[in-house]
Amino acid sequence: MKQKRIEGRWDCVFCGSKAIRARFAACPNCGKSRGVDTVFYLPDNIDDSVLTEEQAAKTTNNPDWLCEYCDSYNRADAKYCITCGASKDKSGDDYATLQNKFK
Ligand SMILES: [Zn+2]
Ligand SMILES: [Zn+2]
Repeated sequence: MKQKRIEGRWDCVFCGSKAIRARFAACPNCGKSRGVDTVFYLPDNIDDSVLTEEQAAKTTNNPDWLCEYCDSYNRADAKYCITCGASKDKSGDDYATLQNKFK
């Protein structure tokens, strides 16, 4: 079973653009960089955001992770869950691995 990698989305706090794809480090609309505390979230239509292998190869090898306590989606570099504060270490698996477990 191949891992699927989902592309997260973020909202620009400067111009209000919504659902900007995670591959963009800057807002395509106003050109401002996303801040370090940008919150990523899953798009409504996940099927639309599964990356091709080619795209996935270009993404970071630190996929976002899912908190096992509250099911929140957290950035790869977040050490603690943004929602409940649980340590990432306790969650162990990254988001893609957890998705496969659910199948
Ligand atoms: Zn913007
Ligand atoms: Zn949590």
